[in-house]
Amino acid sequence: MKVVTVVGARPQFIKAAVVSHVLRKKHTEILVHTGQHFDHNMSDLFFEELDIPKPDYNLGISGGTHAEMTGRMMIAIEEALQKEKPDWLLVYGDTNSTLAAALAAAKLHIPVCHAEAGARLHSLNNPEEINRVCTDHVGTLLLASTQTSLDELKKENLGGRSLFVGDPMYDAFRVYSEKLNIKDIRLRLLTGEEIPVPDSFYYLTCHREENTKEDMSLLEILRAMDTLEAPTVYPVHPRNRNHALKLQAQHGLSKVFLTEPVGYLESACLVLHAEKIVTDSGGLQREAFFAGKKCVTVFGIPIWPETMVFHRNDLARPDAEDILEKLDLKQQIDDSYQPFGDGHAAEQIVRALEGCK
Ligand code: UDP
Repeated sequence: MKVVTVVGARPQFIKAAVVSHVLRKKHTEILVHTGQHFDHNMSDLFFEELDIPKPDYNLGISGGTHAEMTGRMMIAIEEALQKEKPDWLLVYGDTNSTLAAALAAAKLHIPVCHAEAGARLHSLNNPEEINRVCTDHVGTLLLASTQTSLDELKKENLGGRSLFVGDPMYDAFRVYSEKLNIKDIRLRLLTGEEIPVPDSFYYLTCHREENTKEDMSLLEILRAMDTLEAPTVYPVHPRNRNHALKLQAQHGLSKVFLTEPVGYLESACLVLHAEKIVTDSGGLQREAFFAGKKCVTVFGIPIWPETMVFHRNDLARPDAEDILEKLDLKQQIDDSYQPFGDGHAAEQIVRALEGCK
């Protein structure tokens, strides 16, 4: 079996890492990197740390409007697919790279497998939702990470091509989260200085368009973190860098350490050792759940509703008071509750591809 996998962004590298290693034991994989994320800390570092095979195609496409980026990617991916003639296209998640690849393959009648299918916010104001919905509807094999995602696919009459396989992010967290010792991690501040990870700290990631477009939302989030008893480690997404630096220059916020983005091994280790986590990332809120850490998600709609039980992950508005209130809600953990599968989603994804060939 020959599979072309298209990736382009940080969370896709993590999922591809666990699946590629299983897939390549018996099959041929051609890896296409669109270039959507290109900074060393957002791309190469993941390939190095997670031992992801070198991409066969580096398309070098990033930036521009959504349509420009998606269109340019479609043209380049179509060329690669025509050359490789794979049995499957495999894509992950919900980025412009996912959508571009799915559309290009579907038009060439190449079967499309979508891993992390069926995640829904039910709001087309969210740019990633458009990518998810369109990819699922042109997909051939839709692999859901949770039962809720599978139910969403059934509601859209896609149940006949859908399967629950578990979450490859859970596989990755199980495999990689204990590889580093927290004492060995050095954080590089955006000012260039290097510091060790504080003994006690909160972990923040925040980069969604919805939370960073305007000063007020990000400022409220940073203000909330600045009032906590322990400092906050905030690896800043490149999209947000100037904005975060400007707010710190204007408002002090000395207890928030703005750092360069960290690698996945560092991030997973920070999750394991943080007091609590505040995020707007779909990946990080699941990792908080895997690690049993209290999480507050600054977003208007549940992203992974499975995590929102017994105050394990509460939604907050981008409002300092609301964030602090939600951080104080005590979580309860039921160890028998694991909606993200058994930690072997990668094997199930490969089995599903083999079974449908
Ligand atoms: N992550 C990372 N370095 C960082 C921040 C996050 O490796 O500096 C990891 C994080 O652990 C999670 C993933 O990146 O696994 C989430 O990616 P992102 O927030 O970009 O995407 P989303 O989850 O919102 O799709």
